[in-house]
Amino acid sequence: MQDCIFCKIANGEIKSNIVYEDEDMIIFPDIHPQAKIHLLAVPKAHYPLISDVDDANLLGRMLSKISSLSEQLGLSSGYRIQINQKGKLGNYAGQEVMHLHIHILGGQKL
Ligand code: AMP
Ligand code: ZN
Repeated sequence: MQDCIFCKIANGEIKSNIVYEDEDMIIFPDIHPQAKIHLLAVPKAHYPLISDVDDANLLGRMLSKISSLSEQLGLSSGYRIQINQKGKLGNYAGQEVMHLHIHILGGQKL
């Protein structure tokens, strides 16, 4: 997708400190961290919302991978995952980037 910041990070057009990459996704630090550790897991394919995902197992694979990476990501004391979703009538959750992403928060008591 043109003009999508996360597509540009995924395809290398914008540099980011990618800490993990596979065929499904990349993981990199959030530019405005809300916790000591704040990472974003972003599918390489451009889906604005969960409801746009056409690969039934993608989110399951991403969550399993995050879980198996948790120790090497510094999340051995636990972590929180969050997905903000804009709605048809409003944006109560405050989704800013319309490319699906999973926030991973930890490194401290939340
Ligand atoms: P959301 O509100 O769920 O859409 O979250 C978007 C997140 O993307 C915010 O936490 C931003 O700080 C983060 N963000 C925006 N641009 C970048 C970027 N270039 N690199 C890393 N994180 C970003
Ligand atoms: Zn995108």
